Amino acid sequence: MRALEKSPASLLVPFYFFLLGLLILFSLILLVQGVTGAGRNDSFTNMLFIMTGLTGLVSTFYMIRRYQVSVQKMLKERKTVVLTVEECSKCSYKAVRPFREGDYVYGYGEECPRCPKGSGDTGVENRMVITAIYLEGGRQEERY
Ligand SMILES: [Zn+2]
Repeated sequence: MRALEKSPASLLVPFYFFLLGLLILFSLILLVQGVTGAGRNDSFTNMLFIMTGLTGLVSTFYMIRRYQVSVQKMLKERKTVVLTVEECSKCSYKAVRPFREGDYVYGYGEECPRCPKGSGDTGVENRMVITAIYLEGGRQEERY
């Protein structure tokens, strides 16, 4: 059950290709039946077999191609960089840096490089506040 929650796609993919394999096999059988049956009495059925077999093969290859495209798209999307925007509440200095684990909107970011380091030992007062988390490319992921 836990594996399902983690990545349902990884379980679906082999099943998908198993189906595609069956479809190819079925189409090939139809095609061979139609070709070897040529010359026999029922030429219409042979033609139907060949046509169905060819259609099956073409649509299977089309599905594989579409799958490849979607995988490439997914890999491209994975490359997108997530950016964190930090703002100083005192001097309103704004900084954008790559997202780090643990970042959340209205959480504390890094120390403000502009404001002088206060006498406070916690350092929290000097830290900027995360105001937004973006996906590079303009699409916003979170904004409150
Ligand atoms: Zn500041």
